[in-house]
Amino acid sequence: MKYISTRGDKTERGFAEILLEGLAPDGGLYLPTSYPKIDDATLTKWRGLSYAELAGEILSLYIDDIPQSDIKALAAKTYTKAVYGFDEITPLKPLESGLALQALSNGPTLAFKDMAMQLLGNLFEYELARRGESLNILGATSGDTGSAAEYAMRGKKGVRVFMLSPNGRMSPFQQAQMFSLQDPNIHNLAVEGVFDDCQDIVKAVSNDLEFKRKYKIGTVNSINWARLLAQVVYYFAGYFYATKSNTEKVSFTVPSGNFGNVCAGHVARMMGLPIDTLVVATNENNVLDEFFRTGSYRVRGSAETYETSSPSMDISKASNFERFVFDLLGRDGARVKALFKDEIEQRGEFHLTAEEFAKVAGYGFTSGASKHGDRLNTIKDTFERFGVMIDTHTADGLKVAREHTKPGVTMLVLETALPAKFAATIVEATGRQPERPHWIAGLEGLEDLPKRFKVMPNQVQAIKDYVVQHCND
Ligand SMILES: *Cc1c(COP(=O)(O)O)cnc(C)c1O
Repeated sequence: MKYISTRGDKTERGFAEILLEGLAPDGGLYLPTSYPKIDDATLTKWRGLSYAELAGEILSLYIDDIPQSDIKALAAKTYTKAVYGFDEITPLKPLESGLALQALSNGPTLAFKDMAMQLLGNLFEYELARRGESLNILGATSGDTGSAAEYAMRGKKGVRVFMLSPNGRMSPFQQAQMFSLQDPNIHNLAVEGVFDDCQDIVKAVSNDLEFKRKYKIGTVNSINWARLLAQVVYYFAGYFYATKSNTEKVSFTVPSGNFGNVCAGHVARMMGLPIDTLVVATNENNVLDEFFRTGSYRVRGSAETYETSSPSMDISKASNFERFVFDLLGRDGARVKALFKDEIEQRGEFHLTAEEFAKVAGYGFTSGASKHGDRLNTIKDTFERFGVMIDTHTADGLKVAREHTKPGVTMLVLETALPAKFAATIVEATGRQPERPHWIAGLEGLEDLPKRFKVMPNQVQAIKDYVVQHCND
């Protein structure tokens, strides 16, 4: 399997080559040259597999430059009951008839990003050892991505993480999760500024190409193809858990921000998984809902990007969306480049033609949006009727899912975080404190553990100096 860019560069690259890269050289995102098609017999065979075995099968279809036995060993090492608390790894939690949650947030940082990031950590360690290289991951976080990256990379040989966060502005739980890590290869840098300052520093360092090459700077952002690929697995698993035969169809509702999660659902559907509908759920930051209703994609400015109680969906533009548009437009790289480079980078919006927009339905997509009041009602109602506590992002999904159910088609709502991560809103909705998962060691009393971090000035040079001093530790 080879990979090409969404912006027309037809150079074909191998998986191991794009694993450690971000954007393609022409500014596009990587996608496989085609999607492997899964026939009925294969689906039936896969039904009987464990989650880790299923992951090994799916990854092997997309990776031909790592031996299959190694891919399967990496999958087996990643998806264990010890880490995820359940044999099924992503078990279903049934609510009313025909509707269930699929739990993707049982990993070490209590959010779905662990599903992909844990595999990425093992893939990075494997590939860097094979090449005899090392990598310094530089990132900015306001919470979820940074903690998932640190828990995936902690103790990994050949990898160091330098994670910038806005000093004093993360939730106490997220801060405690990250800063309590004592692994020498993890560096928490608390920048005296806001999240955008952290992101600007990362961009400035990454744009210094000489520095980037000399100090082997890399990233783990959501446009990484390997992260998307890892996420394809749980769509298959969810389908198998919800059905008895391959003639049944299932729909998924996905709380969305950067379109990484639901894009994996799109890939699963392109492979032939019997998905009826992919429902994109947004919060007040409804860039994607607007697109699926109107065919207009309009990036938001900071004044129009709201801070909500489902903060991991507070995005101004959806960085993985270009991948779907590439498929939607018949893989016309020139047209994608015109839309994303000329229109978006210059004017911040594009409008599909009526003919182009009409194709969306054929890809099974629809959408909806939710607000703070909806989240509170949904959290309270779910707790009262089913005794199940859900987090704010999953609540956005559940509210929108109920607007799109069809008789005879099971609806799975992807649970993207556990309520313990967003305790304040859970208390607001239910009057009760959410429990912390018992299978993860060290969560009780997490906030009291010793913290390891360094406060840094809001200056590019200071961050560069720190990296230079510590990149050979
Ligand atoms: C990252 C995240 C999302 C959004 O996922 P995308 O892949 O960016 O669409 C939703 N919920 C939670 C809890 C997240 O951490």
